[in-house]
Amino acid sequence: MKVSVDEAKCCGAGQCVLLAPEVFDQRDEDGIVVLLTPEPSPDQHSDVREAAAVCPASAITLHDGS
Ligand code: SF4
Repeated sequence: MKVSVDEAKCCGAGQCVLLAPEVFDQRDEDGIVVLLTPEPSPDQHSDVREAAAVCPASAITLHDGS
């Protein structure tokens, strides 16, 4: 799995950081998402999927290959 985020769409809601703090962070200045782990390990996949599902801005895109 690969993850990408669209900073222009992100509204800084922080749901992704709560669900998968090892994969997503937020910038201190404005809360916009920072992608820490573009290729999460298999044990992180379910959290990342949930983060993408709940992101209110649909700013998280998953590229499934595994
Ligand atoms: S959940 Fe979506 S809108 Fe909220 S910080 Fe993460 S990427 Fe941005």
